[in-house]
Amino acid sequence: MLIDSHAHLDSHRYDDDREAMLRRAQEAGVDAILAIGIGEAPEEMHQARDLCRQFNGQPGMPRLYASAGIYPHSTTEADQAALLKLDQLLADPDVIACGEIGLDYFHEGAPHDVQRQGLIQQLEIAAARKRPILIHCRPKDGTTCAWDDLFVVLEEHWRSTGLRGIMHCFGGGWDEARRSLDLGFLISFAGNLTYPRAQPLREVAARLPLQSVLVETDAPWLAPAANRGKRNEPALVVETALTLAELLNIDAQEVAAATTLNFYRLFPGSFPVGAG
Ligand SMILES: [Zn+2]
Repeated sequence: MLIDSHAHLDSHRYDDDREAMLRRAQEAGVDAILAIGIGEAPEEMHQARDLCRQFNGQPGMPRLYASAGIYPHSTTEADQAALLKLDQLLADPDVIACGEIGLDYFHEGAPHDVQRQGLIQQLEIAAARKRPILIHCRPKDGTTCAWDDLFVVLEEHWRSTGLRGIMHCFGGGWDEARRSLDLGFLISFAGNLTYPRAQPLREVAARLPLQSVLVETDAPWLAPAANRGKRNEPALVVETALTLAELLNIDAQEVAAATTLNFYRLFPGSFPVGAG
């Protein structure tokens, strides 16, 4: 029993086999997925929520949850209409988190001050709706400026809410991990944890407390090493979980149980009725 804590199930790359892809996840032992609602632009923020409505309750399928948010490079489109749409989506019981939001200084896109402003506006909406946040943070190679700016914003606009969040597709060093834990965040690892060159990341993972980790695919991107370069999908989160289990020196069942428990502790209202 595993949870994929971050997958873009609304990607057009699943248009031909979305239902079969979800069934493969269930067969692989993935019984819940957090579908990320950023679309390719704010007008598509509702698509993840719509997938919950479409598939939940069907037998043989993982339970789907959704998020909604405006991606860092889409913050140039974070106008009043987009922010209102976000607020309305976060009121939906299927939409349990706000994200992925954050700062991306790696790719050229929205100016940094626009990204920060868009992040702060969304933190205010998420706080009012009492929704944890899913953070995307990607600095330029060899720098930590995006992390530094992120922690300034979170200290100023998030810590006092008492709400928590997830550092999605974590790629920082120990210092960033420690600061994330200090804010009460969970740290989620994607398929890049399995890549040959990711030894520094594996060393960070090995030091983390079991109660602070999650696994995710970030599908359709970042397929784990065995399928690297191909389209990723939630069934493949198993490989990342096995790598994490090895690093933490525990068996696969323990990592599955711990990451599932960590997820439902962050989203207590989502715990499936009757699950043990
Ligand atoms: Zn993502």
